[in-house]
Amino acid sequence: MRPVLVKDPVQVAPEVYSVLLDNDKCRVLKIRIRPGQRTPMHGHPDYLAYAISYGRIQFTLPDERTIDEKLLESAEIMDRAIKRYNPSHIFAMFSGGHDSLSMTYFATEYCQKRGFKKITDPPTTDGLPRWGVSHINTGIGIEATREFVRTTCKKYDWPLVERKPPGRTYEQWIRENGFPGPSAHRYVYIILKERALRTVIRDFKTARFDKIMLVTGVREQESTRRMGNVEEISKEGAKIWVAPFVHISKLDINRYLAAHNVTRSEVVDSIHMSGECLCGAFAKKGELEEIAMWYPETAKYIQMLEQTVRKETSYDWGWGWAARGAANLARKMKGKRANFMPMCVGCAKKVEDSENAEGVAQDGSCQLPGTENSLLD
Ligand code: SF4
Repeated sequence: MRPVLVKDPVQVAPEVYSVLLDNDKCRVLKIRIRPGQRTPMHGHPDYLAYAISYGRIQFTLPDERTIDEKLLESAEIMDRAIKRYNPSHIFAMFSGGHDSLSMTYFATEYCQKRGFKKITDPPTTDGLPRWGVSHINTGIGIEATREFVRTTCKKYDWPLVERKPPGRTYEQWIRENGFPGPSAHRYVYIILKERALRTVIRDFKTARFDKIMLVTGVREQESTRRMGNVEEISKEGAKIWVAPFVHISKLDINRYLAAHNVTRSEVVDSIHMSGECLCGAFAKKGELEEIAMWYPETAKYIQMLEQTVRKETSYDWGWGWAARGAANLARKMKGKRANFMPMCVGCAKKVEDSENAEGVAQDGSCQLPGTENSLLD
């Protein structure tokens, strides 16, 4: 069934929109708009647009600002971070999701417009930061996502730094501790992401007080109660986290990608998450079944891990064990250890949505298996 729209374009602008076909599955509209013509504010359900003739359309969003105005603000956030911290390198953190894809497209364009060299260019003495794209290969994710990241970087000639976590793998960690739930998330984050990121900082830091700028696609609309307010710029040691799309909406993202003809990840369009990381700490109910439907190899690997852990250890809970009581668990963890890390915002949003969902079971526990030391060794 077609979703109810706030305002139907055909009703608010019949001089521009006319209906060619309308049935219970889809509606086809013909749009004829003259140069300089405006239409009143309206909405569309999921849509596909085919342009018959060339033109440039400017969208004004409900907050009365155009995408171009918001992008100017995004560039200003980048300018401010560079001016304040003078980083030697800028990395766009590209997970493969739509937010990180659009941010990476924006950040790489920004760097090129400012005349910054790529990390693969010959050395210069211009004193400007050099830029690249970074992807953390957690080892527990959907391979199609990694391929998407690699092919996209190749297509746009973005220098990619792909890093796996050094030391213990996810598989080793779960054999020692069992599958993580919300309370163990911060340990898994450190093992899977933080340590991999540290290798990027270590390899590109040029001096003791040097700073490396890490650009994320985090948006304030994705933030959750536990994450607190998303900051435009924040410093964490040598890492300068910058979120140029913090004020950009999901609708802006979709329009930005469409306007630049950027190919989106099929993984996100099928399972609604980037799939680059599947620690399971915040898996939602039915998530593994959904993964199995689209990416059976990944689901088989997770199921194999479950069998191994059950057979070889005393931990008899499986992947995503907290899903049945994720809402309850997350509530118990509020203000305790469940602070989300900059690279886990998508999962933070997922659990927040799960909290808001109806009919979530109130079972589960916050018991941490093992000790803090064993979790991080
Ligand atoms: S919570 Fe999400 S992003 Fe964070 S480590 Fe787990 S799967 Fe990865």
